[in-house]
Amino acid sequence: MNTITLSTKDYGSFDLAVVGGGCTGTFAAIRAARLGLKVAIIEKSSCFGGVATNSLVGVWHTLLDMDYKEQIIGGLTDEVEQVLLKNGNARLENTRSVGICFDPNAMKVVLDDFVVKSNIKVFFCTFYNSLVMENGKIDKIVVGNKDGIGTISAKFFIDATGDGDLCRDAGLESYVADAIQPPSPTAFLSGSIKNDIGKLIVEHGAEFGLDDDWGWDARVPGFDDVTFRADFHIFGRMCNNTEDLTAAEIEGRKKIYALDALLKKYDDPKLGVLALCSQIGVRETVHYKTIFTANEHDLLMGKSYDDTVMKGTYRVDIHHQHDNGITFKYLNGVTETFYGKSNRLVLGDWRQDEGITTPYALYYQIPFEILVQDKVSNLIPVGRMLNADDGAFGALRVMVNLNQLGEAAGVAAYLALDENKAVTDICGKKVQELLRKGGSLV
Ligand SMILES: Cc1cc2nc3c(=O)[nH]c(=O)nc-3n(C[C@H](O)[C@H](O)[C@H](O)COP(=O)(O)OP(=O)(O)OC[C@H]3O[C@@H](n4cnc5c(N)ncnc54)[C@H](O)[C@@H]3O)c2cc1C
Repeated sequence: MNTITLSTKDYGSFDLAVVGGGCTGTFAAIRAARLGLKVAIIEKSSCFGGVATNSLVGVWHTLLDMDYKEQIIGGLTDEVEQVLLKNGNARLENTRSVGICFDPNAMKVVLDDFVVKSNIKVFFCTFYNSLVMENGKIDKIVVGNKDGIGTISAKFFIDATGDGDLCRDAGLESYVADAIQPPSPTAFLSGSIKNDIGKLIVEHGAEFGLDDDWGWDARVPGFDDVTFRADFHIFGRMCNNTEDLTAAEIEGRKKIYALDALLKKYDDPKLGVLALCSQIGVRETVHYKTIFTANEHDLLMGKSYDDTVMKGTYRVDIHHQHDNGITFKYLNGVTETFYGKSNRLVLGDWRQDEGITTPYALYYQIPFEILVQDKVSNLIPVGRMLNADDGAFGALRVMVNLNQLGEAAGVAAYLALDENKAVTDICGKKVQELLRKGGSLV
């Protein structure tokens, strides 16, 4: 058998290494750095934001409660929104579908600025590869970048890779939902569309290999005639393995350009794709077990906890894997399922079905224990790999929610190091107190 010997460089030692610079990981890193930790963030692409930037998804949901009266989400989400709005890079809508709509390119610059001001060591274009464990703890991680292969040492680690790459390598218990929410290719389209795109796809999609699939779009702020488009899903692909991810990227781009050709032929030859996502939008892959499992019923009933670290109102939102539909369930009971481009709607009321007559909850809550696993004492998993049933995942997976959990992870890392404790011994109420001191409304 041949052995490969790798010579690795030393890329430094830190209090905290955050792997994955989506909004979740970025906010974790900033909160920890603001509390005084020496923080490194490792991101495989060239910018922060993850799906918000590389997949062009420029929508954060409302920070207000169900009645639009009380602000329930603050912290870094609010700080970043204020900058985007002040600079004219975002539009405030405050509806159930859209809180603010922002320009993903501007988001990259704003996040850069927040991170640079927090004195965080940034490793862009750096891919986390593997880890080295010692006595039940992660000692260092191995990364690859333009400088070669190297190690980053830290006392504490946050896995914000979305897919839980560190959790996988540390041997944490995982599970996969029966019907994972499928990924979507996204793009910016330039030009004024005369027709209803959904109708055009229903009428002519087959000619271009396009399905009658549910999708959505949003006008990009700051431009008269640029729309964000997420018209299609790629079914049957599990995007945490390279073969499926590669196939999904190729199939996704093909679908976007099939739409481009359809629109040029049947709407206006001047319409065209202005930008393709640099990474397909991945909704769900694998989940990792933590002490607390979020479940749809408690979530939608607004169950409260002593150590709440996240509040939200975003509806349960499940993109079907098998029938081109999407289901929404709201705190107030409304249940909607839409099918295909015609948006055929089936309405219901889950509260009525369950015979619930008490007033609906104005928001839901999640306790600190959703971030706590008991296998590795210096690791917190945070992001879309979270531990939840299908319905709770459908609600929690959006950015205004994961942003808050990211902040909680950063604060918890600080407490673990300050008090020399394993992650299982961190006091959730102390995390909550520090979050509040830093501007969160939990
Ligand atoms: C098409 C689509 C539309 C959506 N619409 C909305 C919406 O309108 N509003 C909303 O709030 N949410 C929306 N969501 C959901 C939301 O965007 C995601 O659930 C959320 O961004 C996930 O956050 P995350 O931090 O877990 O993952 P990500 O945002 O994917 O961030 C993970 C980061 O880790 C990096 N990374 C991964 N692996 C490695 C590695 N090995 N080494 C180094 N870096 C690594 C990635 O490059 C990425 O930057 C949408 C999702 C999709 C796919």
